[in-house]
Amino acid sequence: MPYSLTITHLYPDYLNLYGDTGNLIVLKRRCQWMGIDCTVKPLSMGDRPHPGETDLYFMGGGQDNDQVAVVDDFHQLKYDTIKADTEAGVVFLGVCGGYQLMGHTFLMGNGQETRGLGIINVTTKAPGTEVKQRCIGNLVAEVFPAMHQEMLSLYAAPKAIPSTLVGFENHSGQTVLGDGVEPLAKTIAGFGNNASAEYEGARYKNVFGSYMHGSLLPKNPHFADYLLGLALRRKYDDASLTLPVLPDAEELEAHSYTVERYGN
Ligand code: GLN
Repeated sequence: MPYSLTITHLYPDYLNLYGDTGNLIVLKRRCQWMGIDCTVKPLSMGDRPHPGETDLYFMGGGQDNDQVAVVDDFHQLKYDTIKADTEAGVVFLGVCGGYQLMGHTFLMGNGQETRGLGIINVTTKAPGTEVKQRCIGNLVAEVFPAMHQEMLSLYAAPKAIPSTLVGFENHSGQTVLGDGVEPLAKTIAGFGNNASAEYEGARYKNVFGSYMHGSLLPKNPHFADYLLGLALRRKYDDASLTLPVLPDAEELEAHSYTVERYGN
């Protein structure tokens, strides 16, 4: 039986900064190369998700105004299904503005506080709107050993994968993790969650938030596989399900270049 996955792209017309849509291209393409049927569905303003349909949600970054624009629609039409899905282990990746939005509250640079989507226990405050108050630049971070082991366990044959993640950040929001949420990785270069934090991103169950644009997944194929593997293992209720090993020479070369240039 060929495996299949349904990916839902949340608010693609509002939240799509710095090439974030490239993440969907990577997920789709890697599925194709691995022989997995993959359907990507946009879900935007006015649309309701179908319970049980989605295996992986993606939400990209956005300007403060675009983030605020989607909050009411999310709570009216999407919250119940998506909250139930994520509590049940469905994979969700949010990048930058999408990550900030997944939290409980978001204080924008202009001082306006807005409700978040309430998917994970994080809060974000922006100190202001000046460029010098933003965290901008290349970001290199290292995932924790347990996650790296789990990444390695996903492959049907041994594969050398880095323990680092690389990307580009550009945000004013400073994110603080609450109880029950783990950081995604330890920052080696750049900022990550906030200007004084040692950590980048967040994880709660299979929900991931990251400040890495770039876009994130093309230069981190091991993280793309991790998301696909978690989604498949949950969908097919098979903790030993494995993925074919793709060569990834160019992808990993782009990754190593960034680590060598900025991470040492
Ligand atoms: N508007 C948010 C901020 O500047 C997120 C920006 C982004 O997604 N890059 O903090």
